[in-house]
Amino acid sequence: MDFPGLSLDLSSLAGTSRPDPNALYDMLIIGGGPGAMTAAVYAARKTLSVALIAGDFGGQVATTTDIENYLGFQVITGKELTDRFVEQVQHFKIPTAKGDKVEKISQEGEIFVARTDKQESFRARTVILSTGKRNRHLNVPGEQELVGRGVAYCAICDAPLYKQKKVAVIGGGNSAFTAALDLLKLEATVVLLNFSAGWQADEVLVAAVKRYSDKLRLLSEQQVIRIEGKDRVEAIHILDRNTQAEERLLVNGIFIEIGLLPNSELVQDLVQLNEQGEVIVDCHCRTNVPGFFGAGDVTNVPHKQIVISAGEGAKAALTAYDYLVGKGLV
Ligand SMILES: Cc1cc2nc3c(=O)[nH]c(=O)nc-3n(C[C@H](O)[C@H](O)[C@H](O)COP(=O)(O)OP(=O)(O)OC[C@H]3O[C@@H](n4cnc5c(N)ncnc54)[C@H](O)[C@@H]3O)c2cc1C
Repeated sequence: MDFPGLSLDLSSLAGTSRPDPNALYDMLIIGGGPGAMTAAVYAARKTLSVALIAGDFGGQVATTTDIENYLGFQVITGKELTDRFVEQVQHFKIPTAKGDKVEKISQEGEIFVARTDKQESFRARTVILSTGKRNRHLNVPGEQELVGRGVAYCAICDAPLYKQKKVAVIGGGNSAFTAALDLLKLEATVVLLNFSAGWQADEVLVAAVKRYSDKLRLLSEQQVIRIEGKDRVEAIHILDRNTQAEERLLVNGIFIEIGLLPNSELVQDLVQLNEQGEVIVDCHCRTNVPGFFGAGDVTNVPHKQIVISAGEGAKAALTAYDYLVGKGLV
């Protein structure tokens, strides 16, 4: 995933080599978000030979404006936090293929082989997959242009910015109703719009949301057709799928809660995934394949957050180290 418009200062990466296709690394780390970056630091401090293949640096963090729940910083921008991650990783001079995407990971005996979109293959005894997730998008005009300026995909992260504001929540499942509840508790006025009929969320959650009836509008079978706004979201245009009537709703923000897509396609033939396509890991970050570990949003770990991915990255690296020690390989 690349994020156009981001201008990371990559001068700090000068001197970092590319991974060697002829080498056999102790560990390949796939990803460039908090999970992968933290894993890289932990692995390097264990003096493992490590290579990092990162589609970009920062991952979802790089798309975030203000972060208020990463310990050590009252508030920090996603760009600043990303720069700090990169600087810390760079300190260990880890060979890095930045901008490369791993297309497939396979196994030759006990060795893992990661093939990239640049037609290179890198080999290692262990892999930490921390490729994150991407939000399912509405794909309507205005959405991409206004991300972070009224268009939000993470209520835990951004709901506090909408205290007493007017907000649309899109979706009809547990994520949408949880987002609506978070916003209603902040005295926001919420219109919840579902594409399909009825609600797919748990009854108890629907009931909790409905308790805020004075500040709530629930509409099903609605399609968002456009998000409007110059510098920030100002309104959304919706279409009633039954009557075909169009309506313009004035809102300060729109939370799109229509599901997440884990970036796990590259290992779908290798490791066990759950129904959502997440890599199944145990509490040590082990998958069903010995030597293959998962960390962060791409896995079935609950609550997708920066600090959680970072913690999982640390745990995955330490477990992988134990695995290598157990095999007598380091
Ligand atoms: C708009 C927004 C705001 C958010 N705000 C907050 C917040 O305030 N606080 C908070 O705690 N959390 C927030 N989150 C959630 C948080 O960003 C994620 O939980 C966290 O970034 C997950 O880290 P990760 O390393 O698991 O994955 P990601 O951050 O998704 O990183 C995945 C990395 O893997 C790379 N990658 C993917 N596929 C491949 C491939 N095939 N080959 C190579 N590399 C690949 C990507 O390029 C990326 O570098 C927010 C999320 C969004 C979208």
